Amino acid sequence: MRWSLTLGSLGGTVIRIHVTFLLFLIWLWAIFYRQGGTEAAWQGTAFIVLVFLGVLLHELGHVYAARYFGVPTRDVTLWPFGGIASMERMPEKPSEELIVAIAGPLVNVAIVAVLALFVGPRLDAEGLAQIESPAVSMAAKVLWANVVLVAFNLIPAFPMDGGRVLRALLAVRMGNARATEVAASIGQAFAVIFGVLGIFYNPMLIVIAVFIFLAASGEAANAQLRAVAQGALVSDVMITAFQSLPTSATVNDAVDALIRTTQTEFPIVDGAGRLRGVLMRDAMVKALKDQGPDTPVLDVMVTDIPAVSARAKLDTALRSLTEKRRPVVGVTDPDGRLIGLLTLENLGEMMMVHSARPETRFGPWHPGPSS
Ligand SMILES: [Zn+2]
Repeated sequence: MRWSLTLGSLGGTVIRIHVTFLLFLIWLWAIFYRQGGTEAAWQGTAFIVLVFLGVLLHELGHVYAARYFGVPTRDVTLWPFGGIASMERMPEKPSEELIVAIAGPLVNVAIVAVLALFVGPRLDAEGLAQIESPAVSMAAKVLWANVVLVAFNLIPAFPMDGGRVLRALLAVRMGNARATEVAASIGQAFAVIFGVLGIFYNPMLIVIAVFIFLAASGEAANAQLRAVAQGALVSDVMITAFQSLPTSATVNDAVDALIRTTQTEFPIVDGAGRLRGVLMRDAMVKALKDQGPDTPVLDVMVTDIPAVSARAKLDTALRSLTEKRRPVVGVTDPDGRLIGLLTLENLGEMMMVHSARPETRFGPWHPGPSS
C-alpha cells in the first residue's frame, strides 16, 4: 500500500503505519505542547502511542485467531481512526467467526487485567487524581482507554466486532443469511440511536452513525446475495450474449465495440476460444489517449481474470469475484472455452429479480445453455 511505512512482519502478516497516522501524532504533539509545554506534549503523545499499541495487539488477536482457522492476513495497517487487518475472508462456520471476532476485544481485556495488577485499587476518578507517580497514572489512563476500546468494539453493530459476535450467535439458531439480516437491523437501530445522541451531544457520533448504518446495509446485501446464490449454478445466471474480441484486435476495434454494445468490459478470446484477458472501458479510453488507436488489445487488457466452470456452484464464483476484486469472472466449458461471463452488474440484476419476486429460484429449471 502506498503512503504507509512497514514496521515489520509477524508470521506472514506485514505490520504497517499509514503516513496520516504519523501526521496525526505530530498534530497531537503540537496541541499538547500549546496546552502544557514540552513535558505535556511527550506524555500526551506517549499515551496515544500506547493506546494504539493496544489497537494493534487487538488486530493481531483477530489475525492469529483467523490464522488458526486457516485464513491468512496480508497486512495490518494503523490509521488515525484505528487498525485495519486485511483478512482474506471471515471463516464461514459461526463458531469460528465468533472466536475470530471475540479474539480482538479479549486482547484488550487481557491488557486491562495486566495493567490493573500494576495500578492497584485506585481505579476510580478520585483515585486517579491522587496518583502521584507518572508511570502509574499513565498505566491507569491506558487501562481506561482499553476499557473504552472493549466497550466500543462490542457495540452489537457491523463493522464492530460486536456485530460479528451477534451474527455468529444468531447464526447458530437461524442460519447465516437470516442471522445477518437480524444483526444488520439491530446494527441500524444502534446507528439511529447514535445519530440522535450525536445531534444533542457530539457531532462525531453522527459520523460514526452513518458509518455503522452503511456497513450494516453492506453486510445485509452481501448475505442476501449469498443466500440467493445458494443452490444455483454459474450456468443459471451467467451472461451468454456478449461480444468478445480476437487477440489480433486493436484499441480502435475495442472502442468500436464499446460504442455499439452496452458492455463496458470485453473478453479477449484466442483462436481456440480460450479467455486471454479482459479489456476494461477505462483502460481502453486511456490507451486511446496515451498510446493511440492502433495499440494491440493484448497490451492493455487485464490478464489475471479468474475463470470458473459453468457447472460450478454460484457461491464459489461469487467468492472469486469479491476476494480477487475483479469486476468480471470468465465462465468456461469442460474444454476451457469461454462460454459466459459473470459481472457485479449481472449479479445486481439477479438481486433485483429476487427482491421483486423472492420465490424466484435461479435453479436448474432455468433453460440455461447447460441444459
Ligand atoms: Zn476488532
